[in-house]
Amino acid sequence: MSQSFYPSQLIDRFGRKVDYLRISITDRCDFRCVYCMAEDMTFLPRAQILSLEEIHQLAIAFAELGVTKIRITGGEPLVRKGALELLEKLGQIESLNELVLTTNGSQLASTAQALKKAGVKRINISLDTLDADKFKAITRTGDLQQVLSGIAAAKSAKFERLKINSVILKNRNHHEVCGLVQFAVDNEIDISFIEEMPLGIINEHNRGAAYYSSNEIRSDLAKRFQLIASIEKTGGPSNYFKVADSSTRVGFISPHSENFCHTCNRVRLTAEGRLLLCLGNEHSVDLKHIIRSHPGNSAILKKSIIDSMQIKPEKHEFKLHEQPVILRHMNMTGG
Ligand code: SAM
Ligand code: SF4
Repeated sequence: MSQSFYPSQLIDRFGRKVDYLRISITDRCDFRCVYCMAEDMTFLPRAQILSLEEIHQLAIAFAELGVTKIRITGGEPLVRKGALELLEKLGQIESLNELVLTTNGSQLASTAQALKKAGVKRINISLDTLDADKFKAITRTGDLQQVLSGIAAAKSAKFERLKINSVILKNRNHHEVCGLVQFAVDNEIDISFIEEMPLGIINEHNRGAAYYSSNEIRSDLAKRFQLIASIEKTGGPSNYFKVADSSTRVGFISPHSENFCHTCNRVRLTAEGRLLLCLGNEHSVDLKHIIRSHPGNSAILKKSIIDSMQIKPEKHEFKLHEQPVILRHMNMTGG
């Protein structure tokens, strides 16, 4: 099949344009956040995860099909050996407008400058609390100071934008939302609050009981900050507000209280090479099998990607108060 037969954009059966790919380059992580993983996790053997060359090959195929934004995530992407080299190669794909990264920040102090040089435009850094003991308790293994140093290094490297991602759990860190926004304002960065999603079985807490809605967070913040509603969209599910007299935007990712599926523009590639059409469903295509069965055949690969649009579900199936139907933990797909 010649190149000209391919559509220049991926469109699903609901007419949504898919131009954003998230790639989990590893399921491994140096943290064990209580909402993301069970304490005792088994990770995939190396042979089962995509090689860096395979990830590069897949990224090129998606870019040729109109994907203009790629987010590298994990697991913790920066603990994978060769992550920087991969980012450098991805940064050279001309049609990609945005190469961005989500990280827990633990490795940023030593990698921020190299990431900027590789062409990473923006970074999301997870930070749920500013209290060192609580940070240790939520991440199970993390060190707050290391992450704060990482954020400082990222600031010095002058990315286009930095954003904090905070998952808010009732009676855990919900009373810290004002402090987190103040931290973002002081550092001239953005922040998004995320409602916990029921992905994978965890025993550490009851997800229904820990639910703290975006509306509750918004009214907590309104007591201290003036939030100005913004019509600005960043190509994601966040609803944005500007904090008056600052450059900080506050976003709310509300899978439970505000369904955003009708605007979905993204698909996700898991560490083991499964193209996941929706975070809250299991519809997927095994792209690893396709590239390993047809090495170097980009025509077959691209046709599989185009065909996958036919099984992208209309919306997620998260049910907060029931046992999760989605057994994969967030580290498989990268949030
Ligand atoms: N390790 C990196 C990090 O923590 O930023 C990247 C991967 S992590 C899975 C991506 C994002 O997903 C993080 O902001 C994390 O807080 C969020 N996350 C993890 N599990 C979640 C869950 N069950 N519900 C909502 N967000 C979750
Ligand atoms: Fe690791 Fe990120 Fe999951 Fe925390 S949220 S365990 S840092 S992958």
